[in-house]
Amino acid sequence: MKFERPCPISLAGSPERYRTLLLTWFEGARRSLPWRRQRTLYGTWISEMMLQQTAVATVVPYWDKFLATFPDVEALAAAELEDVLSLWSGLGYYGRARHLHRAAKQVVDLLGGDLPRDREGWLRLPGVGPYASGAIASIGLGISVPALDANARRVLTRWLIAAPRELGDLRPFHLEKIGAALVDENRPGDWNEALMELGALVCRASAPRCDACPVRDLCRAHQAGTADLIPVPKAPVATERVHLGVLVIALRDQVLLLPPGCGPAVVPAGSGVPVRRDLTGLHRGLWGLPSTPWLPDRKSAWRAGIWRPWLESIPGIGSLSGSGDPVLLGKFRHAVTRYRLMVQVYGLQLAQGLPSDGDGAYPTSKTMLKGGILIPQVGQDDTQVRGRFCNLRSPEQPVSNLVKKGFLIARKSIV
Ligand code: SF4
Repeated sequence: MKFERPCPISLAGSPERYRTLLLTWFEGARRSLPWRRQRTLYGTWISEMMLQQTAVATVVPYWDKFLATFPDVEALAAAELEDVLSLWSGLGYYGRARHLHRAAKQVVDLLGGDLPRDREGWLRLPGVGPYASGAIASIGLGISVPALDANARRVLTRWLIAAPRELGDLRPFHLEKIGAALVDENRPGDWNEALMELGALVCRASAPRCDACPVRDLCRAHQAGTADLIPVPKAPVATERVHLGVLVIALRDQVLLLPPGCGPAVVPAGSGVPVRRDLTGLHRGLWGLPSTPWLPDRKSAWRAGIWRPWLESIPGIGSLSGSGDPVLLGKFRHAVTRYRLMVQVYGLQLAQGLPSDGDGAYPTSKTMLKGGILIPQVGQDDTQVRGRFCNLRSPEQPVSNLVKKGFLIARKSIV
């Protein structure tokens, strides 16, 4: 049998007092956001998924475009995953888009298109966890449940804790209980949004603006002058630096994009075991540039010659690229989960004019642009993938920020 330790720390005032102060402040301070102006359950769901790990200002244009393209759950369920990922392109954490698409299909196939009407129903959908289900249920359905994101947890912790040494007494389930007890039964959505808004605008992780805070008289951290120290900053997540090369193959103003995981499989002698060979898992469903495996240290820098044998294996491309190797155009850094990528960008401008495919040996420009070209995947027996030339200024394919950054460097030189 599991016993829960009672919380040794209590609030400095009654729940009613906190509600009155915070909700009054929220009336005047709430930001005007599109999902607040056009409140629907569907729109709330999309906003909550987009806002995970992402700043509000970044989400606003994505939400507008997403709702204009997929105005309801039926439209989202009927869409191709590739089109959903295209709209998500640049927002990062693409698993959220895949979950949204899968959840929409589940709602249409199993629930007849009716979005769940309780928190438990939302919890059964892919990508919806305790926080998101609480936010959607309270904001979209008016159900009295808490929704504690990182901002709300920080605010509650500061209300409760006066000194960093007390943090060890405060367990996650204590916060859940106190968070649940504070929810305003009559305005649960407003309460949860107000708590998160206070954390985002006033009770910031560093340099909280206590002078502008409506709840400062009931805040133990502020009273003790320790707000800056609570919560104590967490140890940074261990990161791993890796080196890779990507290749921009340009045909006039088009760039060759491939499914993730395509590129030379060989690594330079003496460079050790690659950290990862490709982005297949991280960028599933997104189109990318041909990429080398990821190497662990600077000494194993790539050389332009790495691309030639691989290019020669692609029908049409090898014969078009002339005798020169791709050239190094520049470098950039990019973060993907815990990896810190040091990316070398190589470029190859294909010659103007393409040979005829009269004997079927080479693709014409028409088939390359429309139907794509077949590319053998090195090391994967007899498999071929289809690549497409695409204009990255208005990409029709879903691409990651890594591709966009690589393209920007190449564009200055070869496109
Ligand atoms: Fe946060 Fe300061 Fe307000 Fe306390 S008084 S909730 S520390 S902003």
